[in-house]
Amino acid sequence: MPHGKPAGVPCPHLLPDRHCAIYMDPARPACCAGLAPSLEMCGDDPAQALAYLARLERLTAP
Ligand code: SF4
Repeated sequence: MPHGKPAGVPCPHLLPDRHCAIYMDPARPACCAGLAPSLEMCGDDPAQALAYLARLERLTAP
């Protein structure tokens, strides 16, 4: 599985329940394993977390 994906495209390892299918697998990308979530990133609920992610994708779009 190549690393990286276009913005706005869900990770192929993301399960329908929003869990990671390879969370305990050593093949999980280092950028995922090293991510330190913050309150700003997570918000109070999934909608806020997804809004934060969408903002990052807009700000980093080519
Ligand atoms: S933790 Fe990484 S590999 Fe797992 S679903 Fe999220 S982006 Fe994909």
